[in-house]
Amino acid sequence: MGKYAALVDVSKCTACRGCQIACKQWNENPAEKTVQVGTYQNPPDLSSITFTLVRFKETLANGDVVWNFFKDQCRHCVEPPCKEVADVMAKGAVFQDQSGAVVFTDKTKNCNFGEIRDACPYDIPRQDAATSIIYKCTFCNDRVASGMTPACVKACPNGALSFGPRGEVLKNAEKRLIALKKTYPESRLIDKEEVSWIYLLHHPETHFQITRKERKRSPIYARRSLIKPLGTLAMGAALVSQVARGR
Ligand code: SF4
Ligand code: SF4
Repeated sequence: MGKYAALVDVSKCTACRGCQIACKQWNENPAEKTVQVGTYQNPPDLSSITFTLVRFKETLANGDVVWNFFKDQCRHCVEPPCKEVADVMAKGAVFQDQSGAVVFTDKTKNCNFGEIRDACPYDIPRQDAATSIIYKCTFCNDRVASGMTPACVKACPNGALSFGPRGEVLKNAEKRLIALKKTYPESRLIDKEEVSWIYLLHHPETHFQITRKERKRSPIYARRSLIKPLGTLAMGAALVSQVARGR
């Protein structure tokens, strides 16, 4: 379990996208060339140079048009499936530090991108086509190690993002949930025990542009987990047969 966590209180987000800019600046990622396709969501998706993105979704609720905003990024899973898969392909390609950050290194170029992306329940990792290195949000682990808050949290002018010791963040999240439910009865915390980057939604999940798949073991990990016990069984059987022959 990581030392820190962050809370995204979606009800406070105004989609100013200050977090997107702060992330670009801190990580020295360039802007992307995009075209206007009839939405304020820009750029259209995460990429190897865009680690966070405010996703827009328009829904009709009781005859009213409602806009909802969702700051998408790596959730820094407590038990990260991406790391589990990467460990099989290239040891050290993905590491998790004490803060709770799950970090991709340049060694990810030796990993199968499809397997890693598929393992992520939130469809976060993206690959650089030229270098094959896989990228995503780092939880600003370099800033956190120096006692600072993640750049996006620091930049948010609306208090939608908060960061701190995990226990404290969870306590505040529960408190805020109770308060929010008075106005928005369908409010909920998403996967709070499974991730370090926790979301508090004030509308049903279908009103947001969110990807959330069931956590599953990737085929590559399943193969390895199957091979190991089979190997142990074979060794055991050989031993039993040796003993039976009195050797
Ligand atoms: S959200 Fe996806 S990329 Fe991030 S730690 Fe979890 S599995 Fe890995
Ligand atoms: S924690 Fe850092 S790397 Fe992650 S989205 Fe925020 S600014 Fe970007």
